[in-house]
Amino acid sequence: MFCEKCGTELAEGAKHCSNCGAPVGGQTVQNSNPVNNNGGESKSKLAAGLLGIFLGSLGIHNFYLGYTRNAVIQLVLCLAGFITCGLTSLGAYIWGLVEGIMIIAGKISVDANGVPLKD
Ligand SMILES: [Zn+2]
Repeated sequence: MFCEKCGTELAEGAKHCSNCGAPVGGQTVQNSNPVNNNGGESKSKLAAGLLGIFLGSLGIHNFYLGYTRNAVIQLVLCLAGFITCGLTSLGAYIWGLVEGIMIIAGKISVDANGVPLKD
Protein backbone atom coordinates (compact mmCIF):
# COMPACT_ATOMS: atom_id res chain seq x y z
CA MET A 1 0.00 0.00 0.00
CA PHE A 2 1.26 3.45 -0.93
CA CYS A 3 0.34 6.98 0.03
CA GLU A 4 -2.08 8.49 -2.55
CA LYS A 5 -0.52 11.87 -2.12
CA CYS A 6 3.24 11.36 -2.15
CA GLY A 7 3.65 7.68 -3.04
CA THR A 8 5.58 6.72 0.08
CA GLU A 9 5.20 3.09 1.08
CA LEU A 10 2.95 2.86 4.13
CA ALA A 11 3.36 0.66 7.17
CA GLU A 12 0.62 -1.94 7.52
CA GLY A 13 -2.39 -0.54 9.38
CA ALA A 14 -1.06 3.01 9.22
CA LYS A 15 -3.73 5.68 9.35
CA HIS A 16 -1.49 8.50 8.21
CA CYS A 17 1.43 8.71 5.81
CA SER A 18 4.73 8.87 7.69
CA ASN A 19 6.15 11.21 5.05
CA CYS A 20 3.42 13.79 4.32
CA GLY A 21 0.85 13.02 7.02
CA ALA A 22 -2.03 12.51 4.59
CA PRO A 23 -4.83 10.26 5.87
CA VAL A 24 -4.65 6.78 4.35
CA GLY A 25 -7.53 5.86 2.05
CA GLY A 26 -9.54 8.81 3.28
CA GLN A 27 -11.29 10.02 0.17
CA THR A 28 -11.48 7.17 -2.29
CA VAL A 29 -13.29 4.71 -0.06
CA GLN A 30 -16.55 6.68 -0.03
CA ASN A 31 -17.85 5.28 -3.30
CA SER A 32 -17.91 1.68 -2.17
CA ASN A 33 -20.87 0.58 -4.31
CA PRO A 34 -19.21 -1.35 -7.16
CA VAL A 35 -22.04 -0.85 -9.67
CA ASN A 36 -21.66 2.90 -9.37
CA ASN A 37 -18.02 2.93 -10.32
CA ASN A 38 -18.32 2.57 -14.05
CA GLY A 39 -20.06 5.68 -15.19
CA GLY A 40 -20.38 8.39 -12.60
CA GLU A 41 -23.57 9.67 -11.05
CA SER A 42 -26.83 7.76 -11.18
CA LYS A 43 -29.64 9.59 -12.91
CA SER A 44 -33.16 10.18 -11.68
CA LYS A 45 -35.70 7.54 -12.68
CA LEU A 46 -38.60 9.95 -12.31
CA ALA A 47 -36.92 12.67 -14.38
CA ALA A 48 -36.04 10.22 -17.15
CA GLY A 49 -39.55 8.75 -17.13
CA LEU A 50 -41.27 12.13 -17.29
CA LEU A 51 -38.93 13.27 -20.05
CA GLY A 52 -39.88 10.14 -21.98
CA ILE A 53 -43.60 10.72 -21.47
CA PHE A 54 -43.63 14.43 -22.31
CA LEU A 55 -40.65 14.87 -24.63
CA GLY A 56 -40.14 11.27 -25.73
CA SER A 57 -40.72 12.01 -29.40
CA LEU A 58 -37.62 14.23 -29.32
CA GLY A 59 -35.59 11.48 -27.63
CA ILE A 60 -34.78 13.76 -24.69
CA HIS A 61 -34.99 10.95 -22.12
CA ASN A 62 -32.57 8.85 -24.17
CA PHE A 63 -30.15 11.78 -24.48
CA TYR A 64 -30.47 12.17 -20.70
CA LEU A 65 -29.70 8.49 -20.07
CA GLY A 66 -26.91 8.36 -22.64
CA TYR A 67 -28.74 6.15 -25.18
CA THR A 68 -27.67 8.56 -27.89
CA ARG A 69 -28.34 6.29 -30.85
CA ASN A 70 -32.01 5.75 -29.94
CA ALA A 71 -32.33 9.42 -29.07
CA VAL A 72 -31.11 10.48 -32.51
CA ILE A 73 -33.46 8.00 -34.21
CA GLN A 74 -36.42 9.39 -32.25
CA LEU A 75 -35.44 12.95 -33.04
CA VAL A 76 -35.10 12.15 -36.74
CA LEU A 77 -38.47 10.33 -36.76
CA CYS A 78 -40.06 13.31 -35.07
CA LEU A 79 -38.58 15.83 -37.51
CA ALA A 80 -39.40 13.56 -40.45
CA GLY A 81 -43.04 14.15 -39.51
CA PHE A 82 -42.85 17.29 -41.65
CA ILE A 83 -42.67 15.10 -44.74
CA THR A 84 -44.73 12.16 -43.51
CA CYS A 85 -47.69 14.23 -42.32
CA GLY A 86 -46.82 13.46 -38.72
CA LEU A 87 -46.86 9.70 -39.11
CA THR A 88 -43.26 9.17 -38.01
CA SER A 89 -43.69 11.82 -35.31
CA LEU A 90 -46.57 9.80 -33.91
CA GLY A 91 -44.37 6.69 -33.95
CA ALA A 92 -41.59 8.51 -32.11
CA TYR A 93 -44.15 9.87 -29.63
CA ILE A 94 -45.55 6.43 -28.85
CA TRP A 95 -42.04 4.94 -28.64
CA GLY A 96 -40.93 7.65 -26.19
CA LEU A 97 -44.15 7.34 -24.19
CA VAL A 98 -43.73 3.58 -23.83
CA GLU A 99 -40.08 4.01 -22.79
CA GLY A 100 -41.05 6.70 -20.29
CA ILE A 101 -43.61 4.36 -18.73
CA MET A 102 -41.11 1.48 -18.74
CA ILE A 103 -38.54 3.67 -16.97
CA ILE A 104 -41.01 4.65 -14.25
CA ALA A 105 -42.25 1.06 -13.97
CA GLY A 106 -38.65 -0.07 -13.51
CA LYS A 107 -38.48 -2.12 -16.73
CA ILE A 108 -35.66 0.12 -17.89
CA SER A 109 -33.56 0.45 -14.76
CA VAL A 110 -30.07 1.39 -15.92
CA ASP A 111 -28.61 4.13 -18.07
CA ALA A 112 -26.35 3.60 -21.07
CA ASN A 113 -23.34 3.13 -18.77
CA GLY A 114 -25.10 0.43 -16.78
CA VAL A 115 -25.49 2.73 -13.77
CA PRO A 116 -28.79 1.99 -11.95
CA LEU A 117 -31.30 4.83 -11.92
CA LYS A 118 -32.12 6.28 -8.53
CA ASP A 119 -35.68 6.84 -7.31
ZN1 LIG B 1 2.39 10.81 1.80
